[in-house]
Amino acid sequence: MIQHLKLFTPGPGDVEEDVLEALATPVLRHYGPDWMEIYNETLLLLRKFFNTQGDLFLVPGPASALLDMAIGSLVETGQKVIVGTNGFFGDRLIDIAQGYGAAVVPFTAPLDRPLDPETLYALLRQNPDVQVVALVHHETGTTVLNPLRELAGVVREAGKVTVVDTVSSLGGVEIHVDDWGVDVCVTAANKCLEAVPGIGFISVSPRAWELMDRHPNKNHGWYLNLGTWRKYIQEWGSWHPSPVTMPSNIVLGVLTSMRRIVSGGLEAHFARYVYASQAVRRGLENLGFEMFVPAAYAAPIVTGVRARPEFEVAELSKWLAEQRNIAIGGAFGAIAGKIFRVGHLGKAAEREYLIDFLFAVEEFLRHKGIDAPVGAGLVGLQ
Ligand SMILES: *Cc1c(COP(=O)(O)O)cnc(C)c1O
Repeated sequence: MIQHLKLFTPGPGDVEEDVLEALATPVLRHYGPDWMEIYNETLLLLRKFFNTQGDLFLVPGPASALLDMAIGSLVETGQKVIVGTNGFFGDRLIDIAQGYGAAVVPFTAPLDRPLDPETLYALLRQNPDVQVVALVHHETGTTVLNPLRELAGVVREAGKVTVVDTVSSLGGVEIHVDDWGVDVCVTAANKCLEAVPGIGFISVSPRAWELMDRHPNKNHGWYLNLGTWRKYIQEWGSWHPSPVTMPSNIVLGVLTSMRRIVSGGLEAHFARYVYASQAVRRGLENLGFEMFVPAAYAAPIVTGVRARPEFEVAELSKWLAEQRNIAIGGAFGAIAGKIFRVGHLGKAAEREYLIDFLFAVEEFLRHKGIDAPVGAGLVGLQ
């Protein structure tokens, strides 16, 4: 038997029982009238999270596959692309763009600060030959929330196309794909939509199609090519709306999760993240921890906390897992060992989970001989 840890990781999180039950239903065919009903309802609900009336595709795979698809479908070898990065997932976008032979113009910010729209404006003026700007909304690696609305606005003004990784923000904070002018928006089922890994979602604006259609002969494969997916919707859309077999149970899982979130109201779902992140921030601050990102730039979805001199992050993680059955996240790259990350996805935002986690951190501090009055970590829960 695998030991199940309570997940306070930056994703995936622990999902509700109704999602697990959906996974256990008998296998459905990914075509025909029954499937079309599920598929259409899934699209309808996804539109409420994306706030788009544009094209939207369900693509099996990890989120990175869809980021690959987005950039690969838009960018030709040798073309210049601006890629925003202030952390691990921004760096991944650079790797993906370079994987397609793009000449990347980096658009950077310090790891604990958001990408600056004015810097982007200047970069676009200096590089008029750029057609595509790719960036991350919530940089899960550092927990900074980049100002998507403003950044997308700058790109739209310049008449260029944005590719945005909203993998760990869509469903967690408000996103208005159409109103903000986000051309290609990528997310996945297993972050703030609170279902299990295995499928991603990608929206495509008319402007993004125009750019793709201007150079339709790019040689970037078949499966992760948006053109392939559009063709199947056009030709088989009424009964088999995808080029490949769909992980139907995984789709049922995310549909179940979205039904519940939408019926409770999106505002309430967003508020849950705010509540959990405040409870963790305030509680840990009261226990003497410092946050990595100033409150003004911090995402409510994952909280980054600085390591402290009395112990290593690895020691805290190990103790929480072994003694209290709790999993937290570490960090990668330049901040490895310097911060830990606490996710607020799924059950991690529930009061009992929060009490468990905060109380366990207190106990760890006492175990280390550090003064931590009983209940001091729970101050943010009221
Ligand atoms: C989780 C995450 C990804 C990668 O997801 P995979 O499913 O592992 O490919 C990409 N970007 C962000 C911002 C993420 O949080």
